[in-house]
Amino acid sequence: MGIKVVKFGGSSLADAGQIKKAAAIIKSDAERRYVVPSAPGKRFSDDIKVTDMLYACYEKAAMGEDFTQDFENIKKRYNDIIADLGLTLSLEEQFAQIKANLAHAGREYAASRGEYLNGIVIAAYLGYTFVDAADVIVFSDEGVMQRHDTVTKLRERLRNLDHAVIPGFYGKSFSGVVRTFSRGGSDVTGSLVARAVHADVYENWTDVSGILVADPRVVNEPVVIPVITYKELRELSYMGFSVLHEDAIFPVRTAGIPINIRNTNKPEDDGTLIVPDSDAAEETSIRTITGIAGKKGFCAVNMEKGMMNSEIGFVRDVLDVFAELGINVEHMPSGIDTLSVIADAESLKGQEERLLTALRKKVNPDHLELEPDIALLAVVGRGMRKTRGTAARIFAALAHGRINVKMIDQGSSELNVIIGVNENDLHQAIRCIYDAFISSTL
Ligand code: ASP
Repeated sequence: MGIKVVKFGGSSLADAGQIKKAAAIIKSDAERRYVVPSAPGKRFSDDIKVTDMLYACYEKAAMGEDFTQDFENIKKRYNDIIADLGLTLSLEEQFAQIKANLAHAGREYAASRGEYLNGIVIAAYLGYTFVDAADVIVFSDEGVMQRHDTVTKLRERLRNLDHAVIPGFYGKSFSGVVRTFSRGGSDVTGSLVARAVHADVYENWTDVSGILVADPRVVNEPVVIPVITYKELRELSYMGFSVLHEDAIFPVRTAGIPINIRNTNKPEDDGTLIVPDSDAAEETSIRTITGIAGKKGFCAVNMEKGMMNSEIGFVRDVLDVFAELGINVEHMPSGIDTLSVIADAESLKGQEERLLTALRKKVNPDHLELEPDIALLAVVGRGMRKTRGTAARIFAALAHGRINVKMIDQGSSELNVIIGVNENDLHQAIRCIYDAFISSTL
């Protein structure tokens, strides 16, 4: 029998009703043996996540202010869940201990208690063993998770447990201090557990039915991506898709374990399967384009110089100037006598004049200009390699939408095409490409 590690996000566990749904999902498949819960999230749009309640409570405690009411509100979240689940469990002992520790055990300790308490409740409801993440997720004293030690500890602890609940988001440092990942870090815990038990799949249960082809705020009701490779996901995440905590990818990716993004509220949906990059994965691409992402906040530095291409070291000199000023370079489309450097506008801010002066001095271009407000669009798809005419279709779609293309860059992997447009054109450009490649196939 296979092993599935299942991680449930905060909205999937926000109240007893949601926890019952999660439990039904877990119990419906005997392979779902290891459960990684987040803290209870929002029950409605104006609600506050337990993690945020804990941060706020800690701020007051650390300032020596009265946090009694804030703490009571947190207790109530759990006590309501326990009562609505019909459990006889009492968390009074844990509450008392947390309250006593709150002011001095640190901000991360405070935040971690959301997952800790939820883990105890969910373990009791499922009848599974509770494994405190502090005993198995190892951090250095600087707060960096130690993957090797963690996987070893998890493996030892879970070896003889058929079922267990391991709360997400936190662990403990060498010197015994509770540490957390950055926000959304339960995804990382789930990935580490999946790696440790050699899971066949890491299921990440959330409140959407998978990764969408494009941002739903830009495209009306975009379709779900059924299968995506890790490489494609990396390209899209870099350009603004936020799907999983970025540190959650590495542990499972290197072990070849797929991630399945699923919807707790629609368990019948298959969701999105994130798979290792392989020839077989290529066969599963049903669309030429897997996803379209876009990001604003870039600047183009355009240079022209006669005989530039025969000047040895020209590009190196240009890049040296950017590096010396600490400016992030994203892309570098070039012609015979022209070169554009697309840079991150934020790291360029306040240094525009210094950059131009330094470039003039170092490479003495005939023409030099800075073009602000550039957005980059990434059209990503493993299916592009085997489909001819994709670039032509992309640019025809953009031309049809009267979008002025400022830059084109195709990676050698033929996995993505990066297009620079004016920031004001970004959303329209995404819609044009979506319509040409996706809507037309529906
Ligand atoms: N509860 C934490 C947060 O809100 C961690 C997580 O949910 O993954 O960020």
